[in-house]
Amino acid sequence: MTIVTRFPPSPTGFMHVGNARTALYNWLYAKHHGGRMLFRIEDTDRARHSEEAVVTLINDLRWLGLDWDGEIVSQYEQRDRHVAVAQELLAQGAAYYCYCTPEELADMREEAKAQGRPVAYDRRWRDQNADGKPRNGVNPVVRIKAPLDGETLIRDKVQGDVRVKNEQLDDFILLRSDGSPTYMLSVVVDDHDMGVTHVIRGDDHLNNTPRQKVIIDAMGWDVPAYAHLPMILGPDGKKMSKRHGAASVEEYREMGYLPEALCNYLLRLGWSHGDDEIISADQAVEWFDLDRVNQAAARFDFAKLESLNAHYIKEADDPRLLDLVLPILRARHCLDITEDDTAQKRFIAGMPELKDRAKTLLHLVDEGAFYGKKIPFSYDEKAQKALSGDAKTVLEALQKRFRGAPAFTEETVAAICKEVAQDLCAGKLGPVAMPLRAALTGTTVSPSIFHAAAILGQQETVERINAAVLGSLSSRECL
Ligand code: GLU
Repeated sequence: MTIVTRFPPSPTGFMHVGNARTALYNWLYAKHHGGRMLFRIEDTDRARHSEEAVVTLINDLRWLGLDWDGEIVSQYEQRDRHVAVAQELLAQGAAYYCYCTPEELADMREEAKAQGRPVAYDRRWRDQNADGKPRNGVNPVVRIKAPLDGETLIRDKVQGDVRVKNEQLDDFILLRSDGSPTYMLSVVVDDHDMGVTHVIRGDDHLNNTPRQKVIIDAMGWDVPAYAHLPMILGPDGKKMSKRHGAASVEEYREMGYLPEALCNYLLRLGWSHGDDEIISADQAVEWFDLDRVNQAAARFDFAKLESLNAHYIKEADDPRLLDLVLPILRARHCLDITEDDTAQKRFIAGMPELKDRAKTLLHLVDEGAFYGKKIPFSYDEKAQKALSGDAKTVLEALQKRFRGAPAFTEETVAAICKEVAQDLCAGKLGPVAMPLRAALTGTTVSPSIFHAAAILGQQETVERINAAVLGSLSSRECL
């Protein structure tokens, strides 16, 4: 049997990290078993529908590197088929028309509540064989005939055996009074028509499963295997949401996380392979199965994700990182260095050190932005402080020696800084390196400044010092 899984998100405008993990597990399970993962958009809520939200889902899935098989299926486009299945169920006597008004239903709910009964609807139309024509201005809904006794067993690959007494199942609605199919019906029909063999989804859907099985049984279809994944919780143990920090894939992308870091993190959040923490996509495909998915909900650990991200940034190829950081440099630092070959070369030369220090791409960009700056540029508050007082004398001495240096390497820059420290600062390197850093980067945080100066080159270094020294004479000119 070919395994067929599916990822069927609703287009809400963003992809929650929990949904991303569901997609990942479906993808891994299909890949591990040489099967297929299908992608369906559950877009039946037309009142709130937006194509933009659909595009967000597609982009997020692509960004995560989770490809799908075949065409994307729109649930809304299958609505005629959903209605046809409801008609079939009516024809076989497995479903019926119900004309209850909202007021009648409200009364039934009250009564059931008072008597402590789980099922509110009293099934008054179940055996009426009504023909579906409007009555007294009321259009009927179509309800399923759920079994009244016995029990339903769901063999869940994560939760184990889940048993529900059938008396707790209601005759739920398949078609609303306007003729539109409900989620419960659409999901079952689509899964069947798409040949889904494994339904792997969040455990918030576990309650729906015995109901969905009623439709499957009535149609005589094969019951898929189920695996309900526990929720992802925030660090405080409550359902992970925006108030815990970023909760969507898009936010993590914007914060400078690499997709492989997010996938690795989400993989481990709810599944394990011994003590392995860093797991490549290939390894995950080889190792993943549902038997090691945790039953208990997992708490999101931002620090762990950050450390995985730092790992994957270190591993990433420099040209790929450059491609990723250029748009961020433009957006965050207004630096258009795409066409500027010199700045790109500097960035590439500085990349090994930058990526060694970075926890996110934003961090990397902020620390490396100085490579793309053009004189005159501004100095942040701390840099301005570092450029004040005796800094001018130190920078002038540095500039003089840098100009005369026969070679301009990390080593010669370091040696010159040490000489100036010896001459002017009682051998202390800090009062030399800090103004130099401020002059070259406009900040006080950067990778090794000797290395940075060597990458900038002799002329640029001298010019930046010059601009900073002039700035300390007349700060307005360079700010
Ligand atoms: N559209 C549903 C959701 O986004 C998924 C339904 C399912 O997996 O059966 O939660």
